[in-house]
Amino acid sequence: MEISFDLKATDGRARTGVIRTPRGDIRTPAFMPVGTAATVKAMMPESVRETGADILLGNTYHLMLRPTAERIDRLGGLHKFMNWDRPILTDSGGFQVMSLAGLRKLTEEGVKFTSHVDGSKHMLSPERSMEIQKLLGSDIVMCFDECPALPADRDTIARSMELSMRWAKRSKEAFGERPGHALFGIMQGGLERDLREVSAQKLREIGFHGYAIGGLAVGEGQQAMFACLDYAPGFLPEDKPRYLMGVGKPDDIVGAVKRGVDMMDCVLPSRSGRTGQAFTRRGVVNIKNARHIDDPRPLDEDCTCPTCRNYSRAYLSHVYRSNEMISAMLLTWHNLHYFQEIMQGMRAAIAGGTFDAWEADFHAGRADGDIAPL
Ligand SMILES: [Zn+2]
Repeated sequence: MEISFDLKATDGRARTGVIRTPRGDIRTPAFMPVGTAATVKAMMPESVRETGADILLGNTYHLMLRPTAERIDRLGGLHKFMNWDRPILTDSGGFQVMSLAGLRKLTEEGVKFTSHVDGSKHMLSPERSMEIQKLLGSDIVMCFDECPALPADRDTIARSMELSMRWAKRSKEAFGERPGHALFGIMQGGLERDLREVSAQKLREIGFHGYAIGGLAVGEGQQAMFACLDYAPGFLPEDKPRYLMGVGKPDDIVGAVKRGVDMMDCVLPSRSGRTGQAFTRRGVVNIKNARHIDDPRPLDEDCTCPTCRNYSRAYLSHVYRSNEMISAMLLTWHNLHYFQEIMQGMRAAIAGGTFDAWEADFHAGRADGDIAPL
């Protein structure tokens, strides 16, 4: 079975559809929880599924260093290793090697670097990244690319984009023919419209199963990101999924879907769950604030997640202050549930042609702010 994309409905530029894979369907727009080290932190995989996630993201950089892709392959692949039998998308390692590794040297061939874990020496190249993602058994494989931090001058962005396009071609050649597995190209070009267009054209000439918009959410701010998303998705094929990497906060996600993005990933719901932050339809709740200590009400009365059905703000405040593990578990569950609820809401609204009304409602809830303290 080949991976395919059925675009079912559009509303304005927002799209809804289904990516079909041998491991199950991915409803779009889709939010992918991040399972960095073969786990979505503080969550059992079956609980991640219960929140409504159809697909997880795994990080090549982390997994190649520990426990290594070769070991995961010997143990039956990443799905079996982490007990998640649905689709997995893996990043190429390119972004994290530039942000996390110690000493590193970038050449035409790839990136030589020392591990942030134990100082050992490694090489990532398009060919090695394809090999690692194959060993992991990833369903959706990402091209190896370079992502310069913003702000950067136009020459730097242009040179980096050209390198990423040469690497995209090498990635495609190294990926070869793998029925049932998809390879996504990654558009670069920073905030330069013409460079984005050139990048998209080069990727389309190579040909991919899907296309990512890379090089955003790297410090440019929401306004600049949306300005880029006003045109960038339009450079990509209509009939292939579009993936915005590393986004984002709930309002970033909604703004991206409005502009024609189909897939996103972000550590935010799980990371915030470990630092006492909950995302709700009324905005962010900081459970560490003293106002919650005696509050018997749930985080969100209308939320159907296990945290909101069974636990009070007072309890969440207590376990956070006591450094209990269940604090991260309950807040992460709620956050992932809320992110998936946003996606479900948008999918239904796009299908029904009511995206604008849904979006107005989304912003109105946030403008109201949290319920008043008792
Ligand atoms: Zn909840």
